[in-house]
Amino acid sequence: MDGVLPLKPLGLYFHIPFCARKCAYCDFASWAGREADRERYAEALCREIGERAEQCGHPAADTVFFGGGTPSLLPPELYRRIAGTLRERFAIAPDAEWTVECNPGTLTAEFAAALRESGCNRLSMGMQAAQPELLRTLGRIHTLEGVRQAAAIARDAGINNLNLDLMLGLPGQTAEHMRETLDAALDLRPQHVSCYALIVEEGTPLHDWVERGQVSLPGEDMDRALYGLCRDTLERHGFHQYEISNFALPGRECRHNVHCWQRRDYLGFGCAAHSLWREERRANPRELDDYLAGKPPETEIISPADARFEYMMLGLRLTAGVSEGDFEERFGRSLWETYGPRLLPAVRDGRVARQNGRVFLTCRGMDVMNSVLVALLD
Ligand code: SF4
Repeated sequence: MDGVLPLKPLGLYFHIPFCARKCAYCDFASWAGREADRERYAEALCREIGERAEQCGHPAADTVFFGGGTPSLLPPELYRRIAGTLRERFAIAPDAEWTVECNPGTLTAEFAAALRESGCNRLSMGMQAAQPELLRTLGRIHTLEGVRQAAAIARDAGINNLNLDLMLGLPGQTAEHMRETLDAALDLRPQHVSCYALIVEEGTPLHDWVERGQVSLPGEDMDRALYGLCRDTLERHGFHQYEISNFALPGRECRHNVHCWQRRDYLGFGCAAHSLWREERRANPRELDDYLAGKPPETEIISPADARFEYMMLGLRLTAGVSEGDFEERFGRSLWETYGPRLLPAVRDGRVARQNGRVFLTCRGMDVMNSVLVALLD
């Protein structure tokens, strides 16, 4: 169905829940040791793609995102089958952004060639840190050398748009570590860098280690300093911050994620995937076995008030904030009349700014975003 331009932006997300090993901090829907289920999973995914495309009237899509888990752990022929099915069932715009996440330790030339053939034009890699000791603590399977090799494999295959994910607030991480990591990342000439703060999730090995005092975290002041270091270094190298954790060279923002933050429609496929389609939210079963057994998704119709709040909550993550004109077009009422009285205190004390028809968080507002959102909920 190539060659048809989308009427409205629509993103497609595919969750690939397989990992070579479970990382110590990870509570995502991902499983190690389930390679034997990949074929069955690909079949279930293709079935879901066909059914949803039919239900939604085979809409046009302008972004595709394979996330996980580790999509690069799929055998190339299974990836080709999934990509082929989605191209048959959806009208993928000729200039669509097509991202695939990969774990540096798992990208092969054969898989990269399959990516390129499918139309993938953006690779997102979880680099996390440059230091082997930090990567070991996280339980990552790769090394810095693996990141370099994977970037070279992707470029040899013709994929030149690269995102690197970095993490901050890791046990034992210092400012010197962060500088080294940023230097090593910039050496790879990425177009996009994401800097995520480590979150210690209950039920993970990392949580147990922290509870038992076996590892200690840098603390809030250090986290803030590391974040500032990331922002300053990346801005010095021509990247601009367009979202709390995301930095891009001009024009290389991740369109798929920007659409989600702008609360555009997206369809998610696979276990744990969510969709937002014409104010209906669907949540697929989180567990791999439930998904494979055909357990139906949970659905919910979103009320206009909730839709407006979600729009603000997501949009304010972007440094450009939300557009008053777009708000009015979507919801048939003025943003300022809806939220003005609740936003005014934040405007007065400098957490929120209003300029050229846009409302956005200031630098200070970004640090205390929750205080702004709580006021919108009142
Ligand atoms: S590679 Fe990513 S999804 Fe897989 S276990 Fe590690 S953090 Fe989780």
